[in-house]
Amino acid sequence: MMEGKPAILGGTPILSTPLPAYNTIDYREKKVVMEVLDSGVLSDFYGSHSPRFLGGPKVRALEQCWQDYFNVPYAVSINSATSGLHAAVLAAGAGPGDEVIVPPYTMSATASSVLMANAVPVFADINDFNFCLDADSVARVISPRTKAVIAVNLFGGPADLDPLIELCRDNDLVLIEDNAQGPGGKYKERFLGTIGHMGVFSLNCHKVIQCGEGGIVVTRDEKLANRLRLIRNHGENVVEGMGVEEIENTLGYNYRLTELQAAVAIVQLEKLEELTRPRIEMAHRISERLQGRPELVLPLVGEQDHHVYYVYPFRFLPGCAGFSRDLFIRAVCAEGLPVANYVTPLYHLPVYRRQVCHGTGGCPMKCPWYKGRADYHSGTCPVVERLWREEFVCTDICRWPLGCREADIFVEGILKVLDAAEELQQLEGKVT
Ligand SMILES: *Cc1c(COP(=O)(O)O)cnc(C)c1O
Repeated sequence: MMEGKPAILGGTPILSTPLPAYNTIDYREKKVVMEVLDSGVLSDFYGSHSPRFLGGPKVRALEQCWQDYFNVPYAVSINSATSGLHAAVLAAGAGPGDEVIVPPYTMSATASSVLMANAVPVFADINDFNFCLDADSVARVISPRTKAVIAVNLFGGPADLDPLIELCRDNDLVLIEDNAQGPGGKYKERFLGTIGHMGVFSLNCHKVIQCGEGGIVVTRDEKLANRLRLIRNHGENVVEGMGVEEIENTLGYNYRLTELQAAVAIVQLEKLEELTRPRIEMAHRISERLQGRPELVLPLVGEQDHHVYYVYPFRFLPGCAGFSRDLFIRAVCAEGLPVANYVTPLYHLPVYRRQVCHGTGGCPMKCPWYKGRADYHSGTCPVVERLWREEFVCTDICRWPLGCREADIFVEGILKVLDAAEELQQLEGKVT
């Protein structure tokens, strides 16, 4: 279909100039930041039982906007999604000796938040159509020590949450959605992050909407919301004044968002649809044009679901293409296009492999109070390992300020590489 020699074989790259940077900040954010600076109040939290325990006007306005937009009764702002996950794991009641089930294919904080709570992450496998937790695999690792499950809506699309909700209900577990990547995404017409007992959003500078660093935890449960607020802001000073009797896991951190960040986040939330639209349009165009290529398995999104394509993920079938996924990635990168594998399955990280970390009581997996046997060996989750080793590819090209032109260039680069299979096979022979 496409003529021309692939760049990896000495041809001309399809894209010769770097893509413009991801920068979604404009006059609207500048204006509100100046207002906060003019007010002189850059943060207005007090770590005591007082009205200021809940933060300043911008923080509270952001939480109100979040509640209204996502139609939830409680949104608790926090200084990152990592802090939000830690707070959610603590609010779920997990602690020494407990287990929390997590996927291995995700940003490391999904699992490290469990270690931060001195609990033990137990990895369950994902499925290869949405790259999210597989309920059957979760069911197999539930133990008497399991307290919670963290389902990640990876890449901006939904995990299959219904079977997970059912499992959690039947086993009395707390379901936490790590929705760092999916603000605005939907599962069966419901907003991601609002479906589990708690949902954690990220506002870091790489994400769909951002305020530099920040996060939000949403819940429908007043008790959980109060626990999250205590953990966010020096709960130890506040429980007495608030009359909290169950003080387990309410020791507080300083996980507070500033007024400056909250002001930016309010504007970014207003821009959410504006910022997800190019992602979705580009993704649809790429899928439409690559559909039918037998070497690729493109993202499959349920009819009632909504994917916001923080990342556009797909599978490359080496058996069908005639050359390896790694060579495919190298060849597409040589065309000037951003494709990559995703993270190593998290249980390969040294903290799990060697079981060395600095929880307050030592390493939770090795502590005398832990009676389970979390398994961090290679082979623990075969689907994720196959994807990571042989098939998975993703691109972050679907983003502001890019559009159809870049989507078309991306497609042409992919086709150029796929259509050069014979030459690439020879190259692979030489390399290996
Ligand atoms: C980015 C991300 C986080 C952490 O977010 P921060 O706000 O940077 O702490 C957690 N989980 C997932 C899936 C992420 O993508």
